[in-house]
Amino acid sequence: MVDHADDLIDYDEEDENIPTEVATAEQPPTNGQDATEEDKKDKKGSYVGIHSTGFRDFLLKPELLRAIVDCGFEHPSEVQQECIPQSILGMDVLCQAKSGMGKTAVFVLATLQQVEPAPGEVSVIVLCHTRELAYQIRNEYTRFSKYMPEIKIDVFFGGTVVKEDMKKFSNKETTPHIVVGTPGRILALVNDGHLRVGSVKHFVLDECDKMLDQLDMRRDVQAIFRKTPHNKQVMMFSATLSKDIRPICKKFMQNPLEIYVDDETKLTLHGLQQYFLKLNESAKNRKLNDLLDTLEFNQVCIFVKSVTRANELNKLLCDCNFPSICIHGGMSQTDRIARYKAFKDFQKRIMVATDVFGRGIDIERVNIVVNYDMPDGPDTYLHRVGRAGRFGTKGAAITFVSNAEDAEILNKVQERFEVNITPLPDELEINNYMAS
Ligand code: ADP
Repeated sequence: MVDHADDLIDYDEEDENIPTEVATAEQPPTNGQDATEEDKKDKKGSYVGIHSTGFRDFLLKPELLRAIVDCGFEHPSEVQQECIPQSILGMDVLCQAKSGMGKTAVFVLATLQQVEPAPGEVSVIVLCHTRELAYQIRNEYTRFSKYMPEIKIDVFFGGTVVKEDMKKFSNKETTPHIVVGTPGRILALVNDGHLRVGSVKHFVLDECDKMLDQLDMRRDVQAIFRKTPHNKQVMMFSATLSKDIRPICKKFMQNPLEIYVDDETKLTLHGLQQYFLKLNESAKNRKLNDLLDTLEFNQVCIFVKSVTRANELNKLLCDCNFPSICIHGGMSQTDRIARYKAFKDFQKRIMVATDVFGRGIDIERVNIVVNYDMPDGPDTYLHRVGRAGRFGTKGAAITFVSNAEDAEILNKVQERFEVNITPLPDELEINNYMAS
């Protein structure tokens, strides 16, 4: 048996210190009085323009500001307002904020602002847990670095030919300054000496709880981390960051700025209607068919619990002439990216997926999520339904409940996030889930 005893050893025990919390949304109001409900809402609830701060106030490089304008971003989201000013100064950041609140732009902008590209030197490493997310983060870098042609960015993940990756690092011209990837492949490249991390100045973990929760991934992350210089900026982000995982994250950091934009109970998504529907397992297909026929949707994500079910349900939908495609961990890397792209580019409007697709993936047009199979717990639920209603757009989540265990999980979701998930009415008011 493999001995995993040292898997849980922390990166650097000496670094353990009590971080100063610079600003967290959980802090009491400074005037010593209770904030009114209205105040709290103002502070936490909205997405745009709550303060008069604009991206210009962050004193970002003009190249970045131009790209931000091109991307159509008008106001920084709350998490961006809280994190960007400190993170562009090189401070460590531990940040939890609702899905779709623009966390990616925080580290993308912060690192692009600071990076000083030197030929053949990797300055930034961004790790995340799935290939699709890695690919998506790379695309965000590409968008925002549009006017910084000297900065090279590349993405690396398993399932592709490793030799091709190695080749890139053997030539100064093709060595990226910013490396985005999944831990396994990045570690392999580091270990075989191709990816030299001695000049890394910024180390980012996206969906950090997911990466540090899973022992094998955590071991890879730690191994990469240990090889990078001690002096660097570390930033970690996630939509869920339980109280237990926070100290583990902080072991990698020095006096991080801790931003918890909302506490767990408030994690439900603004603009998202959430419903459940009790039905027998055998009635699911029929009902899904009805829903897809009657609901107005831009794009839909349907989540199932296994690869086989994803394949079968997708086949069924295709047979019924729905524009459906499926994605799951049983597919080859190239296939997964191609499908993800086809969906993102709106060539398909229905995506049947396993939880591989549940986290972090940002597809603007998805306005309906169907939990065909119940997720395994509240965290997964949140990540799945977070695919709809990104960045404050409207959407609906419909969860099928087919047995007592499902019902129990649904109760847990409601308790944990203090939401009221209501029975699906016969007719949904379209204005509630579709932007006009
Ligand atoms: P998170 O990482 O918090 O889940 P993302 O970074 O994926 O969220 O952002 C969700 C979506 O919102 C993306 O399409 C992104 O381009 C968009 N977005 C992010 N910040 C802004 C902003 N300030 N203004 C408008 N859109 C934004």
